[in-house]
Amino acid sequence: MTLVARTFRGSGRMVSFYTRERGLVEAAARGIGKPGSSLAAVVEPFALSKLFLAEGKGADRLTQAEPIESFYELRRDMSRYACAAVACELILRTTEPGQVVPGLFDTLVPYLRAMEATQRPQLLSWAFELAYLQMSGLAPVLDRCVICEAEIVGGTYIPAHGGLVCGDCSPDAGAGRHISPGAARTIVTMRRFQLDRLDRLGMPEDYAAQIAGLLRDHIRYHLDVSLKADRFVESLGRWRKPPDGSDSTKEP
Ligand SMILES: [Zn+2]
Repeated sequence: MTLVARTFRGSGRMVSFYTRERGLVEAAARGIGKPGSSLAAVVEPFALSKLFLAEGKGADRLTQAEPIESFYELRRDMSRYACAAVACELILRTTEPGQVVPGLFDTLVPYLRAMEATQRPQLLSWAFELAYLQMSGLAPVLDRCVICEAEIVGGTYIPAHGGLVCGDCSPDAGAGRHISPGAARTIVTMRRFQLDRLDRLGMPEDYAAQIAGLLRDHIRYHLDVSLKADRFVESLGRWRKPPDGSDSTKEP
């Protein structure tokens, strides 16, 4: 699946793919800008293709490709595009070439299909971020206090501890973010929910703010990235909020 393509030597592109067999792959694709190039569709963001690569001295070379699924709908809707781009940026910035994250490829494709159909791209994007953290072995601990191990529902999220701490432990744990019992339960539900059923999940605005903040803090601390695409999604939310409460923003 194509994550991003950058201009490279005139009409060429340096393309980052996430592949089932080899994880993150960087490959040079030549002659993309030329009329009739068979590789042009393949280097579009999110495109799913079968790739034929030749090993080069530096990066591999993309010699041929068979497009499988274009995910064209994602490129027609700004919110969906921006949320799908969060997933691409997350993978690109937190995996190394050749690194295969177990389960990621087979999560990514259904995720993009669900993103094409959803009315709530932001919610789906959070579900993906949670799944990605889980697959990377870095999921936030939300069902017990990370210090005393007591079972809790809600508490104070402390980035350095990677999870919630209870009321007894929080005075000594450092600065944190309040996560209400309802928001904590919603995250647990999001993890269990099938992607195509997330549209039905209730999400009051205060839960949404807590969940967005927790994910941003956790990803920044544990994966050491602050996502540009994530900030773009946020700015879309501020820019225009449709009356039905969903955050789908159609391009003209
Ligand atoms: Zn505790």
